Amino acid sequence: MQSLFIYNTLTRKKEEFKAINPPFAGLYVCGPTVYSDVHLGNCRTFISFDLIYRYLLHLGYKVRYVRNITDAGHLEGDRDEGDDKFAKKAKLEQLEPMEIVQKYTVGFRDIMREFNTLPPSIEPTATGHICEQIEMVKEIIKNGLAYEINGNVYFDVEKYSKGFNYGQLTNRKLEELLEGTRELGGQDEKRGRLDFALWIKAKSETIMRWPSPWGWGFPGWHIECSAMSRKYLGDTFDIHGGGMDLQATHHTNEIAQSQACYHKTPVNYWMHTNMLTVNGVRMSKSAGNGFLPGELFTGNHPLLEKGYAPMAVRFFMLQTHYRSTLDFSNEALQASEKGFERLMEAYKTLQSLKASANSSENIAAIQSKCYEAMNDDFNTSILIAHLFDAVRIINSANDGKLNLTQADIDLLKILYNDFVFDVLGLKAESGNERLDTALQKVMDLMLEIRSKAKTGKDFKLSDEIRDKLIAAGIQIKDTKEGTTWKV
Ligand code: AMP
Ligand code: ZN
Repeated sequence: MQSLFIYNTLTRKKEEFKAINPPFAGLYVCGPTVYSDVHLGNCRTFISFDLIYRYLLHLGYKVRYVRNITDAGHLEGDRDEGDDKFAKKAKLEQLEPMEIVQKYTVGFRDIMREFNTLPPSIEPTATGHICEQIEMVKEIIKNGLAYEINGNVYFDVEKYSKGFNYGQLTNRKLEELLEGTRELGGQDEKRGRLDFALWIKAKSETIMRWPSPWGWGFPGWHIECSAMSRKYLGDTFDIHGGGMDLQATHHTNEIAQSQACYHKTPVNYWMHTNMLTVNGVRMSKSAGNGFLPGELFTGNHPLLEKGYAPMAVRFFMLQTHYRSTLDFSNEALQASEKGFERLMEAYKTLQSLKASANSSENIAAIQSKCYEAMNDDFNTSILIAHLFDAVRIINSANDGKLNLTQADIDLLKILYNDFVFDVLGLKAESGNERLDTALQKVMDLMLEIRSKAKTGKDFKLSDEIRDKLIAAGIQIKDTKEGTTWKV
């Protein structure tokens, strides 16, 4: 197994990845909150973890990838304030909360498929694990680190902090955290400003409610991930991930809950992806600057100049390392689209390259550099730069400017299969294989008719076919070997 280095948010260092029980590896990623459509920012995080999952598989790990669906327990504010997001949306759309959950879960899975992300091994829902969450809350109360008031249960952060470092994930002291939190008011029933809800009492209008030792209610958001990750990956597991915005509250609270419940640190490597921004501002539902994947695919958005294929968007995301911010703009997308096309064109060229007896290139060196880049905390940005070195070699060999042996050509094909298709998860087609096959057949037919027209000296017809194909967005090129086409 190759030495893989991962940047661990907990220690703020790149560390060599040592799985607890190799070749098995446990990966838990906080999934979407399914009360609305996912925006591209959310997709960036899920595509980043798809890459991480794919690379672990590529290295030979047997990965259990758990990505949950948050379908309950999400209040509007981070600190247990405001209405339940599901109930509010259900009222707005005049649907049952579970219809909201179903609608946006199905939508999420469709989008993930368009982006060619692999399905997780387990996709547990919060509502499917109420018992496990109640059990954990009971245990935390028993251990003296949570308290019940009027049917609500809160985690006692200040008491916990006497024995544990609550702010370890963000490297902040309790005093600093307290400074950043508002004073408790007269209506607050929590004891401490940083205390967070483990269980929330149902209001008379709350539809999604469950019985518990503290009366009817629903779980707080953070406890679901502690309960589900423990159930499927064990008390302590290898990697836990999510967007950076989850670090300070959601993940900080997950660590505290696990420690308070079963006295173990739940995760060895914490990984956080950086944010997708628009003009430097984080893309989010609340900021109103969210682009939906569907809008991007069709170009149907006032700020978009055109639509982009899902694979071009995936490539755009992966061109930047997951820990750097990525700013979304028409120019950046167009540049990525061109880059993606160049990468895929070179793959087609590679299929018809003629081998020479000797070689002037060292393809194995490029292959090693690709592994080095990925082993250095999944650096796709550098990986892609190396892949473009391969593209330049393929194009130059095609132009007769350099020589490649059959072994070189075979290794270039392996490079594409391993890194472009397997690890980066890109594919040449539009994403709809049946449509692609049908298009290929229609194009074969069109080119055959055009060729017959040319042979019969009907140039009016052959030009008309070419011009109409161009108008439809299909470019054709006549070469010595025949006619090629691309969309
Ligand atoms: P949510 O559905 O809001 O719980 O978010 C799902 C995932 O998307 C979480 O891991 C978030 O951290 C992540 N996320 C939210 N906004 C962005 C963004 N602008 N860029 C990257 N990831 C994001
Ligand atoms: Zn979570």
